[in-house]
Amino acid sequence: MTATTDSTTATAVRHLIGGEWLGEPVKERRNPARPDEVVAELPDGGPGEVEAAIAAAAEALPGWRKTAAPARGAILGRAAELLTARKQEIGRDLCAEEGKTLTEATMEVQRASDIMRYHAGTGWRLGGESLPSSLPNTHLYTQHEPLGVVALITPWNFPIAIPAWKLAPALVSGNTVVMKPAGLTPLSVQHMAECLIEAGLPDGVLNIVIGSGSTVGDALVRDERVAGVSFTGSTDVGIKIHEIASARMARVQLEMGGKNAVIVLDDADPELAAQVVAQGGYGLTGQACTATSRVIATPGAHDAFVDALTKAASAWAPGDGQQDGVKMGPVVSDSQLETDRSYMDVAREEGAEVATGGTNEDFFFQPTVLTGVSQTMRVAREEIFGPVISVLAAGDLDEAIAITNASPYGLTGGIVTNDLKAAMRFADEAEVGVVKINRPTTGLDLNAPFGGYKQSSTGTFREQGSTATDFYTRVKTVYMGA
Ligand code: NAD
Repeated sequence: MTATTDSTTATAVRHLIGGEWLGEPVKERRNPARPDEVVAELPDGGPGEVEAAIAAAAEALPGWRKTAAPARGAILGRAAELLTARKQEIGRDLCAEEGKTLTEATMEVQRASDIMRYHAGTGWRLGGESLPSSLPNTHLYTQHEPLGVVALITPWNFPIAIPAWKLAPALVSGNTVVMKPAGLTPLSVQHMAECLIEAGLPDGVLNIVIGSGSTVGDALVRDERVAGVSFTGSTDVGIKIHEIASARMARVQLEMGGKNAVIVLDDADPELAAQVVAQGGYGLTGQACTATSRVIATPGAHDAFVDALTKAASAWAPGDGQQDGVKMGPVVSDSQLETDRSYMDVAREEGAEVATGGTNEDFFFQPTVLTGVSQTMRVAREEIFGPVISVLAAGDLDEAIAITNASPYGLTGGIVTNDLKAAMRFADEAEVGVVKINRPTTGLDLNAPFGGYKQSSTGTFREQGSTATDFYTRVKTVYMGA
């Protein structure tokens, strides 16, 4: 099944179960930039599809586990080449199904390819350690074994990169997979699966079930045959999944929401600070877990920064991401649009000022700056997940760090300053999993560990980089006597 290159023609999305593409279309996904355009027609899976997918993954497990790790990696390497070759076409579909700009979408496809290529190399590096034993004539060593069948549950905001950064380490470690992509954006995952199949992935090693979280996702989390659940999404859903899966002793990895802050200190260049914050807050339409949603400015920086940010916002006028020159695409869905709009009322009711933006036309929400925000206001505490930046005032660095850490979330955090001591203090004291100094809170390297603190993450296993396979493997210790 190959997607059409004409994004005005809907593509049929199917479940992938035991190597077969199955299911009849009963739903559709429309392009948020062009609501008349149906991008994909989708089936709606239920318990039957979940059962079949888990059974297929369980059946494929012994063969895949025995396949040499470098050979598993070689399939990822070939899939990476195919993803790169199809980057423009898949990028157009990703842009149409999620709404992010064509540039952002194409870069995301390349990121998925790079992740596959990185983990092609992991196939040569998986291993354990050899240790001296206290016993005579004994060889003591550890080996890393796959967990088994794992469920990967992903959100809509990075429709191909997040599935790739879970799938690649899962597969190279020898696990078989049932994946549940977000209902809004399953087409990109289908393209990735096509590349893996063409690259030689055996039937049943990757299965995909399209459907709702409450039906398909919940059934996966509850099934005793699923040894691990890796989830990225909202904190509320993550907490529910954790309760269910850990009660049956399944391994759980959760990456969840954020309320990411950037501190702007007196010495910061206001223009640089505005560029850093605008890129972090308006890039990807603010629909990134790592997006900048709070700025905490000290007294000497505050006014000049607000002026510079308000001006910088005008460069982020929303538009159809398929058109040249558009830097920010539409909001993904009706419900996200409603959320963004409702927070404008909340902000005004609580006494904040909408310095710029705050309005929308269709799904195009203007880049927004809220000023006069205090830490007790909901717009300073709750994840909005739109192009909305709240500016708070702090007396000094101590207070700015205290405000940063007052959030229940702890995903990313940034500081704009030339003061090395202040930057190093922030890096040490910020209660976040990723620190950015003079860089946007968004944007990650694929070879570095990623994850949050507090309610942004389970904090047990990191994704990405060389730590990515930890979640997908268990350690066995072997004593071999002569
Ligand atoms: P969501 O929690 O609504 O859904 C995420 C996935 O979980 C979807 O596939 C959904 O169908 C599924 N799901 C929903 N209910 C379920 C249930 N009861 N059981 C099992 N699965 C269920 O999140 P979303 O709206 O798709 O994504 C936005 C959220 O994701 C934001 O909060 C954002 O911060 C977060 N996010 C976090 C990261 C990170 O790495 N920390 C990255 C991207 C997005």
